[in-house]
Amino acid sequence: MKLVFATNNQNKLTEVQKMLPDSIELLSLKDIQCFDDIEETAITLEGNAQIKANYITEKFGYNCFADDTGLEVEALNGAPGVYSARYAGESNNSENNMQKLLTELSGKTNRKAQFRTSICLNLNGKQFFFNGICKGDILLEKQGQQGFGYDPIFQPEGYNKSFAEMSSEEKNKISHRGLAIQQLVAFLKSID
Ligand code: IMP
Repeated sequence: MKLVFATNNQNKLTEVQKMLPDSIELLSLKDIQCFDDIEETAITLEGNAQIKANYITEKFGYNCFADDTGLEVEALNGAPGVYSARYAGESNNSENNMQKLLTELSGKTNRKAQFRTSICLNLNGKQFFFNGICKGDILLEKQGQQGFGYDPIFQPEGYNKSFAEMSSEEKNKISHRGLAIQQLVAFLKSID
């Protein structure tokens, strides 16, 4: 079966393809010649994942899944959440996003946060959702060089290092996206 992952992020594609049975051929947006800018206009992660998955299924006719991730900070009532990429402006600048978050949290003792990934799967006319959560804390300052986004200031529960101090293998095992993808893969294997 051909299955589109609505992304062009090569790291995400490789990670998922490695976990899938050989019977499922994973295609990227580029593979199906989709170069459209799909606007993420929903106010929830589920809504944005659904917009992307539906766009591909409706326009290109493929079974498809899409993901959307946000960092939800307890003391900020769940912000930046669905707006994580553009927290400090439209440019998706991780440095500015992290600085803004550290400023908003300065003086606050509750630094609890969670990354949440929602996946929407369109499969043979039916729709399914999967959710992965990774709980942790926002550090007082940046630590580590790996990863992307908010990784240098996020310390997962049970560890005393940030996501940016972990190898991608170590992070994928416990991360929000890793957990959501594990659920998706288990589901796809169960109906294979
Ligand atoms: P996306 O839905 O995967 O594009 O994620 C939206 C935004 O959330 C990204 O632009 C990052 O700022 C942030 N983000 C998502 N996943 C991670 C992660 O694993 N580590 C750090 N930041 C992340």
